[in-house]
Amino acid sequence: MQFALVDGERSRPKKGLRGNCQYCDGEMVAKCGRYIIWHWAHMPGTNCDPWWGPESEWHRGWKNLFPEDWQEIVHFDDRTGEKHIADVKTPHGLVIEFQNSPMSFEELASRESFYKEMIWIVNGDRGSVNPNYFNLGLMWQGEILLRPLVRYVKWMSRSRLLHKWSAATNPVYIDFGFMGLWRFFDFRFEDDVGAFSPLEQDWLVEACLLGESIPIAYVPEENEDEYNSRLRLTDYDEGEDTSC
Ligand SMILES: [Zn+2]
Repeated sequence: MQFALVDGERSRPKKGLRGNCQYCDGEMVAKCGRYIIWHWAHMPGTNCDPWWGPESEWHRGWKNLFPEDWQEIVHFDDRTGEKHIADVKTPHGLVIEFQNSPMSFEELASRESFYKEMIWIVNGDRGSVNPNYFNLGLMWQGEILLRPLVRYVKWMSRSRLLHKWSAATNPVYIDFGFMGLWRFFDFRFEDDVGAFSPLEQDWLVEACLLGESIPIAYVPEENEDEYNSRLRLTDYDEGEDTSC
C-alpha cells in the first residue's frame, strides 16, 4: 500500500518508518529501496483485505493522477459491515479500481456488487503483446460507427482479456499502452470482435475530478482525418453514421 497511519496521519512510506494499516490496524513497515516500488508491508501472517494485491508501476501511475486523499479509501457497507480498500474513491462517490492482474469472475462480480458506483481501468499492456494485437485488430476492416466513435476490433491475441472483461456490468476502460486508452463495450464471442471507443486519459481523469459523467469519445467531423492518422489507420471502412 502507498499509505499507512503514522501517529494517526496517512503517510507515504519513508525509510525506517513504521505505521498501522488503515484497514486492519496491523503493524506495517515501510519498504523503501532503489529497485522496488516504495510501499507499506504488513508483518508476516497478517490477514488484511483479501482483495488487495501488490501494486505495479502501472497501478501507481494511474492512482497518482488523483489527489492523495482520494486514494486507498476504506469503503464500508453499513448494511453488512463488509469493508474493502478502494484504489480511488472520489468525493462524488465513484470508485475507480485499477486492475493489473487477472481476477476470477466471482471476484469481479463481488467487487461490482460491493462498490456499485464504479469503473474499471484495466492494464491491457501487461507483459504481453496485446497492444500490438489491438493495433492489428484495428486495421481489420470492421464496422466503424462515428459520433460517437465506436470501432469493432478483431481480437487476434490468445489472451482472454476481452472474454473476461466482457462479464463486467460497470464501465471498463482498457489501457493498451502505446495504443492508448479505450472504453470496452462489448465482445462477440462467436467471431472474437470487441466494440471499443477511444478516450483520452485526460478526459477520463478530468471528468472524475469534476464529478461529471465520463464522455464517450466524440469526434467532431472536421477532426476525423486527423484522428484516423493519429491512429495510423490509412485504410478503413467508414461504416454507418448512427448519430441522431
Ligand atoms: Zn491491513
